[in-house]
Amino acid sequence: MSAMLQARFQSRVHHRPRAWYFDREAETLPRERLERLQLKRLRATLKNSYSNVELHKSRMDAAGVRPRDIRSLKDLAQLPFTVKADLREHYPFGLFARPRKSLARLHASSGTTGKPTVVGYTRSDIATWSKLMARSLGCAGARPGDIVHNAYGYGLFTGGLGAHYGAERLGATVVPVSGGGTERQVALLQDFGARVLCATPSYALNIAEVAERDGIDLRASPLEIGVFGAEPWSEAMRREIEMRLGLKALDVYGLSEIMGPGVAVECEAQDGLHGWEDHFLFEVIDSDSGKPVPDGNAGELVITTLTKQALPMIRYRTRDITRLTRERCGCGRTHLRIRRITGRNDDMLIIRGVNVYPSQIEAVLVGLPGLAPHYQLVVERRGNLDELTVEVEACAATGDSSETARQVSHHIKSRVGVSTTVVVKQPGEVPRSQGKAVRVRDLRPKAG
Ligand SMILES: [Zn+2]
Repeated sequence: MSAMLQARFQSRVHHRPRAWYFDREAETLPRERLERLQLKRLRATLKNSYSNVELHKSRMDAAGVRPRDIRSLKDLAQLPFTVKADLREHYPFGLFARPRKSLARLHASSGTTGKPTVVGYTRSDIATWSKLMARSLGCAGARPGDIVHNAYGYGLFTGGLGAHYGAERLGATVVPVSGGGTERQVALLQDFGARVLCATPSYALNIAEVAERDGIDLRASPLEIGVFGAEPWSEAMRREIEMRLGLKALDVYGLSEIMGPGVAVECEAQDGLHGWEDHFLFEVIDSDSGKPVPDGNAGELVITTLTKQALPMIRYRTRDITRLTRERCGCGRTHLRIRRITGRNDDMLIIRGVNVYPSQIEAVLVGLPGLAPHYQLVVERRGNLDELTVEVEACAATGDSSETARQVSHHIKSRVGVSTTVVVKQPGEVPRSQGKAVRVRDLRPKAG
């Protein structure tokens, strides 16, 4: 990197956060007022759910709790949970609290097993979502007038349209490029001069790699902000993407069952994701006991929607493992922060008794000299034991790579605590992300 570029990169990444809010009043609401608003909206949501959704009515009846029994936010713990299987079991429209005819849009996520989960939105739900995504983009550093290059997949997946509507609502110029066709994406980024890139982190890395291969320096383009989400990623990956694209990379969080992208997002402090508490109630629980855990302790994130009309969700178990903090943030926003999601319960591998998240392995691999930041984990069963093979990729073609493999295996063992076989692939051999990265190939026989 030239000295000039280096200086420009430094000034982009390390400048002091400036206070700019898409919705100043909502984003800086004092906690007491925020909690009053939450309670009011929670009661309305419970009434909506109880009156219009059979599942919520029967669950609340079984738990012996009625909407009117909820008099403070502390009473939340009396309410039953909702889980992903509930959506599948009531496929396609069974959890909607509004008649199908009043829905403006449906989205669906393909599950690895069985029916997809279907979510629906009224026109007003779409407007709320757009506003929250605009707020999130603004929180990440996007501004009205920016060009936003949107490489999230458009379609049934909520990422593409969610970011699209949010960027329009912010007042940005959207480039709705969707995923794939990476050479063309690089050309458009350069020709149009986007300041903001929305993508999955793994796809952002793919863009960086294709640009480098074609001799195009995107660090010298107007690109300054990356809003990346829809898959867990490590701090090491963040630093890698920031360096290679010359931008500041911010984490955005969302899930279709709750809304889509824009449920929570990092501010320029990059120190946890602000969860928008005027529209969602966040809790962290112990996955086994279901009991809430105090702020600062790790557990499963549980979210209750406060303003959704078509698909209200009561205490939805996200399977995502994180911690909450209500400490004030330097940006002035009063909304709590969710620590970066380290993994999803569903993604956790248990290898000979050791719990392993792909993002832990990633944190070890990214930045190791001689390795490209692309990897896949392969799980197999040999006899009664699960074996983990880590496929990594060399930066440059090599002959004998056994010494590299031995060293990588040693680093993983000492930092994650699991023994692995490491296979060093030649440059380009590990599949590249076109959207959501495939991190794990599970070759174990399926139960049953
Ligand atoms: Zn902040």
